[in-house]
Amino acid sequence: MANTVLITGGSNGIGAACARLAAHNGRDVILTYHSDAAAARAVAAEIAAAGREAQIVRCDVSDPTSIEALFEGIDPDLPLDLVNNAGIVGPTASIADLDAARVTRIFATNAVGAILVAKHAVLHMRAAPASGHIVNISSAAARLGSPNLYLDYAASKGAIDTFTKGLAEELAPEGIRVNAIRPGLILTDIHAKGGEAGRAHRLGRTVPMGRPGTAEEVAEAVLWLLSDAASYVTGAILDVSGGR
Ligand code: NDP
Repeated sequence: MANTVLITGGSNGIGAACARLAAHNGRDVILTYHSDAAAARAVAAEIAAAGREAQIVRCDVSDPTSIEALFEGIDPDLPLDLVNNAGIVGPTASIADLDAARVTRIFATNAVGAILVAKHAVLHMRAAPASGHIVNISSAAARLGSPNLYLDYAASKGAIDTFTKGLAEELAPEGIRVNAIRPGLILTDIHAKGGEAGRAHRLGRTVPMGRPGTAEEVAEAVLWLLSDAASYVTGAILDVSGGR
């Protein structure tokens, strides 16, 4: 029996694509949402139509008590994989525009939240009858730094890359593989939430492959890393970025 896949931020974008593909691959799914319950219900309905079970849970990964409540609601005997995906970006900004509230919010969600979700997932995996695997969603911005756009976001994703490397080594003896994906420019709502929906399309022309990517293309890489086909891959940070 394949592990259930827990996907934070599974209600939209890359997380929703991972949820759909996981179901298509015969996995049950627990997907979390933050503000968009309707979108989460729509994804869950698609998964049910594909013949798999989908549980939806509200979770704010920037709130440690919300993360604890998420894991308290999961059957401790359920073998689980984790797609550590929930993330936010701010409006485009340069260094002078950054303030404590904005930077703290971004780090609380993208870095602290992701680390605490991984911690609870590892504790769950250690207690469950079969161990699982983790894919953290980083960003090409972690490598590029995103000057004059998303400096704070890029730095928060750099933390995820470093965390992935360390956690992979820590957990390798237990058979829990930990990897990260660095998506490049992927057409999802995150760009609209960042304040400039059209920008993603325009920037797509600067990608070596000449176009933005899709959430489905990222999901394919995520599900591969979770699968036994990647059984000797841990601590890897895989760019899915059209060559960017
Ligand atoms: P979307 O905005 O489409 O989806 C983000 C998801 O995260 C939503 O399901 C949202 O829930 C959830 N979320 C937001 N804030 C919180 C929170 N505080 N607690 C829990 N969940 C939250 O973005 P993408 O699909 O594009 O992004 C997914 C991941 O991919 C992010 O980590 C992002 O940084 C990363 N990424 C995206 C790129 C892109 O170009 N799109 C490029 C590189 C990395 P809800 O909708 O319910 O509020």
